[in-house]
Amino acid sequence: MCACGHTKEVSYAGDGVEYPVFSCPQCGPDKRNEWALWWSDYSELWKDNAKWDEPKHKLPCLMGFFCSKYAEMYGHPFHFEYATPNPYKSKDFINGRRLLAVFGGDAKLARNYAQWVFAFKIRNADYAISSMGFFVSQKFVSEYMQARARSRVLRRSTPLPTEFLGWCLEHEPEVFDRQQFETWNDLNFMVAYVKQGGTNSAEGRVAVEAVRRGMLPPGPGYANLED
Ligand SMILES: [Zn+2]
Repeated sequence: MCACGHTKEVSYAGDGVEYPVFSCPQCGPDKRNEWALWWSDYSELWKDNAKWDEPKHKLPCLMGFFCSKYAEMYGHPFHFEYATPNPYKSKDFINGRRLLAVFGGDAKLARNYAQWVFAFKIRNADYAISSMGFFVSQKFVSEYMQARARSRVLRRSTPLPTEFLGWCLEHEPEVFDRQQFETWNDLNFMVAYVKQGGTNSAEGRVAVEAVRRGMLPPGPGYANLED
């Protein structure tokens, strides 16, 4: 309802997303549209990783990310159905807020989860999702957390990080002469060797560096890599 008494008309606008705009048949369109303000900032701001750690940016970034991914996947913009002038009171934003709560306020984790849903749960663009509510599924969340835990388990054949190998090559190059040193299995082998011979060797210093980088827990239990 407009202040003049007329009922406002709703239409949709936006570039890359469809949000409601309101206009009065007598007074014309609203001068200020909260949706347009949100989108003009967050269609791009979500790409700035640092923003995701700041509480006030978490929800609008998540929604900007969601709308961008949606448009990318379907080739047409996401349409916000609920015509409220305040995006933060729309159902999709409320569901976005719920999703953040599910992940304890870790917005980056919520984003990675949403990305996972797009990749694995919405298998093709023929299957249309109509709202953010689709993402707030305890079943999906549990499945995602399990998949995430599994992917963290290192396989013996996984190559060691290039940056770490670069450090070794620069500081302790002789380890490459003495043994094959490419995978986590090789590191595991080296740790067993260090346990026998102590850390006062090139291998020992490499193991200490690996612990320093969080690649191995400190102490005697650090050979427990999975098969
Ligand atoms: Zn009016």
